[in-house]
Amino acid sequence: MKPKVAFFDFTGCEGCQLDALNLDGDEVVDLLNAVDIVNFREVMTERDDNYDIAFIEGSITRDSEITRLQKIREQAKIVVALGACACIGGINCLKNHLDMEQALEIVYGKDAKYYDTIPARPADAVVKVDHYVRGCPPVTSELVKVIKALVQGKNPNIPNYPVCVECKMAGNVCVFEQGKTCLGPITRAGCNAICVTSGRHCWGCRGLVDDPNTDSAKDILKKYGLSVEQVMEKLKIYDTFVEVLK
Ligand code: SF4
Ligand code: SF4
Ligand code: SF4
Repeated sequence: MKPKVAFFDFTGCEGCQLDALNLDGDEVVDLLNAVDIVNFREVMTERDDNYDIAFIEGSITRDSEITRLQKIREQAKIVVALGACACIGGINCLKNHLDMEQALEIVYGKDAKYYDTIPARPADAVVKVDHYVRGCPPVTSELVKVIKALVQGKNPNIPNYPVCVECKMAGNVCVFEQGKTCLGPITRAGCNAICVTSGRHCWGCRGLVDDPNTDSAKDILKKYGLSVEQVMEKLKIYDTFVEVLK
């Protein structure tokens, strides 16, 4: 019996699910040989609420989503957070700096009274999450790696060192040398430092590495004459964890 896999979207842009569809032909065949996908709103109309592995995309931003996620947790043997919104709260957490009434009014204007919202939070603030596929959106190969490991009953082997390691291996010039800022020193690797390689900096979409060396990160800021506040302002898109530098 192949494990039954379901994908669920909560609050997010659904880019993680779209990215999951970016698998190449061989990968799709491999995957479909290994699992039965029984619930995936973006690609199929059939749905089956009997599943083993649930992928959760998006953060939790309404009371009704709490109840829905709890029900999914009751059904699934394994729950996997898919993408930055589900893993760390993601972009939606920007609204947590506002009063919730104010946030609703900014988005919905005079229709705000028809909507409800709560501070955005990651999936593991509501239920136990067994595994994480990180990034905004995640690297597709990592999603495949996680599914393959779960099918084999293994723990997925996800990098637990900073983005700086992959950045150096890619031969990039550090953006601090160019007067910019970067969260690479404390962010979990696994993306091959793609943003730096593409001419930008790391915003930290993969979340914190375990035991981040915040002292070293602060030393880097000091060396380049930057304050934590300056960095936070520029990098607050995933600021659920820039707080650790305070
Ligand atoms: S993690 Fe990024 S790509 Fe995925 S749903 Fe959230 S905003 Fe969209
Ligand atoms: S701080 Fe950023 S740019 Fe510099 S090495 Fe680390 S990841 Fe690369
Ligand atoms: S470089 Fe940073 S922001 Fe870019 S994908 Fe990697 S972790 Fe995310």
